Amino acid sequence: MTNLALSKEHPVKYFSFSLFLFSAIVSSLPTSSLARASDIVPLFRYFPQTWNTQSGLPHNSINALAQTSDGYIWAGTWEGLARYNGATFDIYTRGENTGLPDSGIRSLFTPPKNNEMLVAGSRGGFTVLKDRRWNAQKPASSMINHAFESSDNSVWLALEDAGLEVRFSDGSESRYLTHTSAYRVIEDKDKRIWVATNIGLYLYSEGKIELASPTHEALAGPTFTLALDQSGRVLVGTEQGVWRHTAIGFSVLHSGLVNESVSSILLDSQNSIWIGTINHGVYRLSQIGLEKLDAKVGLPNNRIFSLLEDVEGTVWVGTNGGLFSLRRAPFTTFTKDQGLSGDYIRAVLEVDDNSVLVGSSSGLDILKNEKFQSVSSPLGRPISILSLANRDSQSVLVGTYTDGVLLYRDGELIPFLDRSNGLPSNEVRAILKAKDGRIWFGTAQGLTSQSLDGSLLHYNENDGLPAHFIMGLAEDRFGRIWIATGMGVAYIESSVVHNLTFPETSDAQYAFSFHADTDGIWMATDRGVACFNFASQAVTFIGKSQGLPVDKVFAIGFDQRGNAWITSNQGVFLTSREDLLASINRSKSQLRLEHFKEEDGLKSRQINGGSQPSLFISESDNVWLASAKGLANTTSQSLARINSFSIPVTIEEVQLDGHVVSSFKGDGPIIVSPDTKRITFKYAGLGYAMPSRIEYQTILEGYNDSWSARGQVRIAEYTNLSPNNYFFKVRARYPDGDWQEVDVPLVLSVQPRFTQTYIFKIVIVITLCGLIWLAFRLRFHHLKRTESILRKRVSEQTKSLELQTRQFEYQATHDELTGIANRRAFDKHALDLFRLAKTSSYSLCLAIIDIDHFKQVNDCYSHMVGDQVIKEVASLIANSIPHDALCARWGGEEFTILLSRHDTDQALDQLESIRRKIKKHDFGYIANNLTITVSAGLADINLASDYDRLLNHADQALYYAKQQGRDQVVVYKHS
Ligand code: GH3
Ligand code: MG
Ligand code: MG
Repeated sequence: MTNLALSKEHPVKYFSFSLFLFSAIVSSLPTSSLARASDIVPLFRYFPQTWNTQSGLPHNSINALAQTSDGYIWAGTWEGLARYNGATFDIYTRGENTGLPDSGIRSLFTPPKNNEMLVAGSRGGFTVLKDRRWNAQKPASSMINHAFESSDNSVWLALEDAGLEVRFSDGSESRYLTHTSAYRVIEDKDKRIWVATNIGLYLYSEGKIELASPTHEALAGPTFTLALDQSGRVLVGTEQGVWRHTAIGFSVLHSGLVNESVSSILLDSQNSIWIGTINHGVYRLSQIGLEKLDAKVGLPNNRIFSLLEDVEGTVWVGTNGGLFSLRRAPFTTFTKDQGLSGDYIRAVLEVDDNSVLVGSSSGLDILKNEKFQSVSSPLGRPISILSLANRDSQSVLVGTYTDGVLLYRDGELIPFLDRSNGLPSNEVRAILKAKDGRIWFGTAQGLTSQSLDGSLLHYNENDGLPAHFIMGLAEDRFGRIWIATGMGVAYIESSVVHNLTFPETSDAQYAFSFHADTDGIWMATDRGVACFNFASQAVTFIGKSQGLPVDKVFAIGFDQRGNAWITSNQGVFLTSREDLLASINRSKSQLRLEHFKEEDGLKSRQINGGSQPSLFISESDNVWLASAKGLANTTSQSLARINSFSIPVTIEEVQLDGHVVSSFKGDGPIIVSPDTKRITFKYAGLGYAMPSRIEYQTILEGYNDSWSARGQVRIAEYTNLSPNNYFFKVRARYPDGDWQEVDVPLVLSVQPRFTQTYIFKIVIVITLCGLIWLAFRLRFHHLKRTESILRKRVSEQTKSLELQTRQFEYQATHDELTGIANRRAFDKHALDLFRLAKTSSYSLCLAIIDIDHFKQVNDCYSHMVGDQVIKEVASLIANSIPHDALCARWGGEEFTILLSRHDTDQALDQLESIRRKIKKHDFGYIANNLTITVSAGLADINLASDYDRLLNHADQALYYAKQQGRDQVVVYKHS
């Protein structure tokens, strides 16, 4: 669907101005146009609000009022000091905290510096509040009516029955007028100090104090209060009105006040002077004259004690019966109090810059210059009005409930058309003057058109209308007439009725009114706003699923800034054309909506429908609404003005698991123990113009890095924060205003558990390192052990190999059976010794011994016995030879012996000895009756040229020994 074109590009602003109630204009009101009204507006345009003990105040006498620079409003009462944040009161009383001896507060003074406030009152109690900390001062001798700090930092205490006590900045003190009651002290632009007392106005100068005007009747009598006017001149509140000090003496501020006892005076930011009286409420003296506000028109009480204007321009009035404020709410509602004939308004039409016609159930009124004038009924009784439409520049058509159509012209109403002259019903809810000059009347019994020639044409169900109950009419840019009925919408094009079918999904039935746009037509229905697009011929609904909180809307209209105003029984909704189009195009699912109700200045949120126009937006963006209680009005400029306020925002309280952190003074840091599960921040935007509309966003840096939208909620909670330093910030604004952030973020330090500390981590790391080291050691040890086992094994294996080698070596050189050298070993050594003996020429003999008849031993006894015999013989030989002799088993039952350094005889002796030894040896243990003898052949080196020959000689000698009968030793000889 194509966009509905926006004729002018305007920034979208969600608000516009407003107004409210009462007040009687005491002196004449200069004429001012409605357009000018935003400069200084009459008191009735302010929205009043009242607080008393039921709202949380400690006492209903508001003795003193102040706003500290952090934004809080303070009210001093007999039962303590109340701090207001726009929603709740916090109470401060006597005691250690404040340092006050009594809870009665008489005076609040904020010097223009340092966010300080001087608080003083009963029993001479005096304390200074600075940055949420109380600094108790030395009490005065009696009740302090006013504590004032002059520009030289001296403190002036106005005392009940005890005059003036001055605490000079140099530390010295003075007392004046000791038996009088002093009420108020002020310093003028020339730094002179003025003191209001029960016996007149005093002027202090260089240590002396004297009556300012001893002969003046008013100023020499009781004077109660002092203020400065816009030129810095002193204003004195007396029993006879307000007097201003000028170059030529004192002059009365306003003659209308001379009979008033004046208890307080306020100069506001528009240079209007507000005057609080002891018995007659409040006056305001401004460009538009002297206005009065009293209990008859909303003040809780006529006895005024204190006045304050806050930074947003809201005026606070402390009365004997509670706290009262006047603020500029977005809407002003005009009711019978302002002169309307009736409060049940059905139709409103701005006829020119200066005049608005208002139709109610009680008749027609015209609003001109903020004043209503009722238009008298030609019927001699009140006429209930349902619709209004311009007929031409001079006259307006007025549709009624029971009397058809009347014509308003030149301040008069005259009958125009009813059942008697052709109208199908006298109930006329919509009238339309078409561009072709025809006039259309929507009645309870069908539609009637009147041509320029006066002829009438009727349409009802028979002509194709969906129903005969007509509630709204409009003409589109093609000249088609749109008709809103109790059964949907139709349009007439070239006298033919066309029904517009609502999509079934919409569930809509009633249509109440239209707004014809360039590209389409907007409809207010019983299921939200609908839009018919001329190009696509499609109807799109915007309702609850787009965030509109109501089903039934009565009217939709647009102002020059692109704001879309939608009315309902539940109040007024403000969105933008942009948002609506985005919803239609499905590029945005939710509308951004502002919802205006009673607290925004509407006397009733029920805006009427089924009459036309119930919403009227002028070219100058004056928005008029017909409500069930009065005519409501706002302008987009006024909304923009309220939105332009920036709101100081403050963190009021911090709770840890529901326990308030008592040490918290708005700064930090706050140390949070690791066991804390829930941290709650309470904050407040200190704006009083539209407190219920203040929006908040918070951020907890360290936890998240973007602002979280909190809506209107003044609490933020975080749970299970991990140990860290966090920075909590909050910011506030009015809808569409600029965000204002807390000056200093709140520092929060969530402590770690022991298990979360660095020490613990270090311990863990050290332990881990230790364990790793231990594991390493164990492993190392294990490896070592394995290694040593391996090494042992290797060594064992090596040893065994060595042993084996040795065994092999041994086996290679030794005879297995006997254990003596074998033939191979013998040969090797014998050869060496032979050569050595030959070269060294020493003697050497070699013998071969053979066991006699050994075959018989084997045969007779067994081979095993033979082996034992060989072993025994070998042993006998080995044990018988000299230590340097060699013996060996030569093979079988034969042995050799090499005797170094033995000549033949010596050798023969040796061998004989051996032979005999063997022969004598008892072999009986091997086998019974076994005797062994041996034979031996002996050779000397001298007869042998080489070793082999030596062997051969010995062998030959053995052979002879055998031949000669055995059991003998034969020496080899050449023969
Ligand atoms: P003799 O030397 O006196 O002429 O008679 P003999 O019976 O000893 O004859 P010979 O030297 O010819 O025989 C040697 C016998 O020794 C033959 C063989 O059976 C036996 N013999 C050789 N070596 C071993 C051995 O290691 N153990 C046993 N039990 N018998 C062996
Ligand atoms: Mg032999
Ligand atoms: Mg033998």
